[in-house]
Amino acid sequence: MPKKDKLALYIFIDALGWEVIKERPFLNDLARTKEPLGTIFGYSSSCDPSILTGKLPQEHEHFSFFRYNPKDSPFAICKWLDFLPKSLTRRGRVRQLMSRFIGKFYGITGYFQIYNMPFKHLSLFDHTEKRDIYKPGGINSGASIIFEYLEARGIPFHASNWRLPEIQRIEALEADLPKREIEFAYLFLGDIDAVMHEHGTQGPEVDSSVSWYDKRLRQTLDLVNQNYDDVEFYVFSDHGMTNTIDNCDLISRINALGFTFGKDYAAVYDSTMARFWFFNENARKSIAEALGEEPRGKILDQATLADYGCDFKDDLYGELFFLLDPGVLLCPSFMGETTLKGMHGFDPYDKDSLASLTSNQKLADPPKRLEEMYDLMKASADRLRPETS
Ligand SMILES: [Zn+2]
Repeated sequence: MPKKDKLALYIFIDALGWEVIKERPFLNDLARTKEPLGTIFGYSSSCDPSILTGKLPQEHEHFSFFRYNPKDSPFAICKWLDFLPKSLTRRGRVRQLMSRFIGKFYGITGYFQIYNMPFKHLSLFDHTEKRDIYKPGGINSGASIIFEYLEARGIPFHASNWRLPEIQRIEALEADLPKREIEFAYLFLGDIDAVMHEHGTQGPEVDSSVSWYDKRLRQTLDLVNQNYDDVEFYVFSDHGMTNTIDNCDLISRINALGFTFGKDYAAVYDSTMARFWFFNENARKSIAEALGEEPRGKILDQATLADYGCDFKDDLYGELFFLLDPGVLLCPSFMGETTLKGMHGFDPYDKDSLASLTSNQKLADPPKRLEEMYDLMKASADRLRPETS
């Protein structure tokens, strides 16, 4: 069987930021491009849909997993779980099993975790990734994803199943390569994200994680070269990682005001920001004032949110966003009770927030921000199937 002509290989590595990669050896001898890539405000839940659709969060309508919306909340059952003893529900393993159960119960095919969400509040919130965003029809706004474009152009492709362990995703791609059928591949990796949450960005654990990817991906590329004449590869991330320098107990500051959650206001406390909905002016004013007294963060004005591409219609993700300074973890939060050495989801322009792009191609007009990864993938697809008109 002759070698196949071309493969466009896109390798996504969660949290492999520019600051993480720039001084570590990583495919250096193969790379003709190794540079920073602007990120999107939020977490992977807002970044990844931008990669897949080429759109900003306000256009694809993904941002954070939870938003105030009691009317459509699928979590009525969870109110009763609040009576379970804290010693049980506080355990990560127990919450993981419950996440699986609740996700199954409600038919959620997207990535679902209840994290540290208080059960008594969960029925006030809607989950924003009910469907698998890597499948057609998974994007909230109805935007189509790059895989639909490939399908329309008749390009056979491989896309990782993110539910499999990382090594099995690599092996699944490697099982497809010798068949010489696919022309485009999207490999989804990212165990290094957890390594850096636990250890921060410095230190031997991160060195060895990066060098593992370097070694392991070279093995994959060898296999590619045995089966294809020509490969263009792009290794990229969605965001970087920032070392924690401080913890901010914002929840206590807000609770101390004495308002009732669900009656006066509602809030989602993410790891780096808090988002609020207000049900009376008194709560709005007092909470804004209390936030103003927290020196390690700021309320995001409308112009900033618009610049971030996060000017959501109908206050979809909150009426007020309070973002902590880079390195200041909101802790405890609805995402976790204990501190972490690294976190992402700070100011997207901060150097540690930046994503990265490494490629064996010299790019005349490299993508500046994440949503332009879509255009890069589309251009690869167009080279595989040039328009004949
Ligand atoms: Zn992460």
